[in-house]
Amino acid sequence: MPSKKSNVLLIYTGGTIGMITDKYSGALHNFQLDQLMRYIPEMKQANCTMDSYTFSPPIDSSDMEPKIWVRLAKIIADNYDKHDGFVILHGTDTMAYTASALSFMLSGLNKPVILTGSQLPIGALRTDGKENLLTSIEIAATKIDGHAAVPEVCIFFEHKLLRGNRTIKLQAENFNAFRSYNHPRLADCGIDINYNFESILPYKKGKVLVPQTTMCQDVVILKLFTGIQEHVVNAILNIPHLKGVVLESFGSGNAPQKAWLIEAVRKATLKGIVIINITQCLQGSVQMERYATGLHLSQAGVVSGADMTTESAITKLMFLFGQGLQADEVRTKMVESIAGEISC
Ligand code: ASP
Repeated sequence: MPSKKSNVLLIYTGGTIGMITDKYSGALHNFQLDQLMRYIPEMKQANCTMDSYTFSPPIDSSDMEPKIWVRLAKIIADNYDKHDGFVILHGTDTMAYTASALSFMLSGLNKPVILTGSQLPIGALRTDGKENLLTSIEIAATKIDGHAAVPEVCIFFEHKLLRGNRTIKLQAENFNAFRSYNHPRLADCGIDINYNFESILPYKKGKVLVPQTTMCQDVVILKLFTGIQEHVVNAILNIPHLKGVVLESFGSGNAPQKAWLIEAVRKATLKGIVIINITQCLQGSVQMERYATGLHLSQAGVVSGADMTTESAITKLMFLFGQGLQADEVRTKMVESIAGEISC
């Protein structure tokens, strides 16, 4: 007996993918989702049924906000039982933040949530949006042994399926815009879609989606650079109500060996601010015990963010503090995996 077709919910938030060039003025403007079929008639051949939800007005992803992540999490939760998978059309600029945030907020997720977009508008002749959209829909609809092939939040772009909370945007121009340096690709899409099941989070029978919808924005990213001054660090670490800091350090988690820096960090951690060390390198992990320049941070109370991306670390802090956890609990949970974002 043929199995029932999957039903996919397409959520259109905005971004380049949803733009078309005005015939007369040449300017880019957003189109309505129902016009999609005109630009991608191949969608009619998709082996699934589809519903859609459109943000009105659509937003450029630079305007994304935690309250819009909450809206997305609620849309997915409200439509969870009726759909087998979700495709979110999203601007590429902050896609990695949204994917990371949703991976934490969608607790108990057992179905695919695929974010995709494009570098060229869907109406452009050489658009990459068509392939990105069609393959995302196919992946969101794919079931193996009756359950989702990829039950996690992903980014699909230029033939690659990547874990959302492991991904960074790397290219402002090239079609090949995203990378996941510290986690293997979840699938490679050529003539066939080849899933890398060993790297995909497993489907778990009986899991129930319980969306977490409170995010705390009392966090900051502090990127170290050669020449950073004491008053700059102090100004940041003394922001009123600050709860969490992603400290972007050098190499394997190193920072200048200045007494004022260690003192500022120690004071902040004693006040209950959680400081997470993330490397500025694109690949590899923080190992604060490797050099004296890292060890002093760990002795001052800084927690290793291991191989997490900055996007993942900052949204994880927002999520954990949003749950009302105390600093010590947040420190413990930051080094544990919630959704495959860190290699433990
Ligand atoms: N500025 C756009 C956005 O992120 C770029 C894109 O969609 O690629 O919304």
